[in-house]
Amino acid sequence: MSEVLVVVDHVDGAVKKPTYELLTIAARLGEPSAVFIGSAAQGAQVAEAVKAYGAEKVYVVDDAQIKGYLVAPKAEVLQQLVAKTSPAAVLIQSSAEGKEIAARLSVKISSGLITDAVDVQAGGITTQSVFAGNFTVNAKATQGTPVITVKPNSAAPVEKAAAGAVEQFDAVISDAAKTAQIVASQPRQASGRPELTEAAVVVSGGRGTGGDFTSVEAFADSLGAAVGASRAAVDSGWKPHTFQVGQTGKTVSPQLYVAAGISGAIQHRAGMQTAKTIVAVNKDEEAPLFELVDFGVVGDLHAVLPAATAQIEAR
Ligand code: FAD
Repeated sequence: MSEVLVVVDHVDGAVKKPTYELLTIAARLGEPSAVFIGSAAQGAQVAEAVKAYGAEKVYVVDDAQIKGYLVAPKAEVLQQLVAKTSPAAVLIQSSAEGKEIAARLSVKISSGLITDAVDVQAGGITTQSVFAGNFTVNAKATQGTPVITVKPNSAAPVEKAAAGAVEQFDAVISDAAKTAQIVASQPRQASGRPELTEAAVVVSGGRGTGGDFTSVEAFADSLGAAVGASRAAVDSGWKPHTFQVGQTGKTVSPQLYVAAGISGAIQHRAGMQTAKTIVAVNKDEEAPLFELVDFGVVGDLHAVLPAATAQIEAR
């Protein structure tokens, strides 16, 4: 069975949930192999994590010589791994970095590229949701090794014990790939809340908050949820763009999505309509989002959310 390369998404060796989703999807296409580009000293820890989700092999690529450079060296690493392993496909998370690596890789290996898949089935048939979720497209790469980026929350990660055999891979990085270097980076302020695209529960606020996210955030914290926002809230400067859910923001697919003071424009729906359960709180019973929801509460969010928070905290 051919290998399927899965690029590990991690922070200092701590593997992020989308990697487990990719490994689960990879098992439909062949034998999952994880590719960890990071500190060699963290290789064993990463292998321990990914082998519980089906990684038979773990290629550890020491990033000492490429650390601090932008994505081009990572594409070269993958190019060389593809040449070595002739995989059935390469799966990468649909982050901004992931998509850039995928694009560069597909050019280097003359392969078909599919981005933002929300599903990948056996045979490499992908599903993409396009035009703000109005169309679903099934596509397949017809040339070379398919390079596919997959959105987070596209599959439920399935635990499956595997060998997780570690193999050090020494890539040769060209000078041409080292032309853009990070000169400074500022860590995002830690909120203590889960990452928006990975959270099981998301509570978002819109223009209806009037800029006061206190009740949205308190409700989110009572559920251990991530906080999101509509574009109207972001454009008003109430939340940074990293909070935006929708067509020009992030796509979330949590178990529960709560929209408070959000009307339900098509561009907002594009980022959240695949949530398993959708709840809306809106004082206008005609708000379009009520057409989509599983549960709707007609009321003022500044009254409804604190009452719900109190109920949850009383449990
Ligand atoms: P509104 O549409 O103004 O709705 C506010 C809602 O709050 C109303 O339904 C109102 O009844 C309710 N409300 C008011 N007060 C209260 C209260 N006290 N309690 C409860 N409810 C209350 N939008 C996105 O969100 N994400 C995107 O990524 C995005 N991308 C876009 C891309 C393009 C190209 C374009 C053209 C638009 C995009 N938009 C996006 C904007 C989108 O069309 C809407 O304008 C936006 O989603 C509206 O945000 P909202 O629902 O918060 O505001």
